[in-house]
Amino acid sequence: MIVVTGATGQLGRLVVRNLLDLVAADQIAVLVRDPARATHPAEHGIEVRVADHDVPASLADAFQAGDRVLLISGNQFGARRAQHDAVIDAAKAADVTLLAYTSILGGPDTRFVVADDHHATERAIEGSGLPFSFLRNGWYTENYTAQLPTVLEHGAVVGTAAPGSRLATATRNDYAAAAAAVLAGNGHENTVYELSGDEAWSLHEYATEVSRQSGQDITYRQIPAAEYRQMLAGSGLPEAMIDVFLETEDAIERGELATVTGDLRRLIGRPSTSLAEVIRDQMKACT
Ligand code: NDP
Repeated sequence: MIVVTGATGQLGRLVVRNLLDLVAADQIAVLVRDPARATHPAEHGIEVRVADHDVPASLADAFQAGDRVLLISGNQFGARRAQHDAVIDAAKAADVTLLAYTSILGGPDTRFVVADDHHATERAIEGSGLPFSFLRNGWYTENYTAQLPTVLEHGAVVGTAAPGSRLATATRNDYAAAAAAVLAGNGHENTVYELSGDEAWSLHEYATEVSRQSGQDITYRQIPAAEYRQMLAGSGLPEAMIDVFLETEDAIERGELATVTGDLRRLIGRPSTSLAEVIRDQMKACT
């Protein structure tokens, strides 16, 4: 059985959809904390298992010998390292045959705070002795394009990174397709994939493409960290998350999310979805 954790989340839902193209529904299970949010898998005949990663005892029956498991990294900074450890312990106790994990592009070479939990989890998985696959995902293109309504309203993409800073993003669906390929495929034991889009783009180029498609004059505006902090605080973001956003900007400027290896394209057997395409789809959704 292929078991997907975080299957009610944005990435997990897409992993399940991609898996349904590759294997029969009775070969898939989802592990969720709230079964009421797992109606799509249930409707497709996918087994729904219930566990909360914050409650290790609830994971006792989460996995069975022979399962191939995808651990999707948690979304709660401060808690997720312990959550991941609890899932790894349960996977180890069940003797699963593959533990895939959605890590961060660059692995130990990345230095920003978001990456720390990923490094720790990779080490814990290696320490478990289970066959593993590290799916080191780059940034989601949607991290940018989801902000398009605001960008169009203000006529600017705003950040602290220099305009020439590059990112090799891919869509959630591209990363999900890669995860599905690994889970449903063979020979992925003890592998590390550096997953990113086929082409890195700069923040300046992003603004230019939005201008081209919208017909509006959109620029990239590099602002000081203090101004960015104030702006994020104004949008109601908690202090701890603001720190994460600012550190991420620094990492982007250092080029830590710009690596292109071709691993994603090879796993999914097609080019990654281009930035222009995602902008076009998002613009349609905005109108
Ligand atoms: P989402 O926030 O949409 O999904 C997170 C999933 O984790 C949800 O299914 C949620 O369940 C589940 N979850 C959270 N806490 C627990 C818990 N205690 N027990 C069981 N399940 C839990 O994130 P995405 O799908 O968009 O992204 C997946 C992960 O990728 C993120 O969690 C984060 O680690 C990382 N990420 C990557 C980014 C990138 O650009 N590469 C950007 C942002 C995050 P529920 O539905 O019940 O809440």
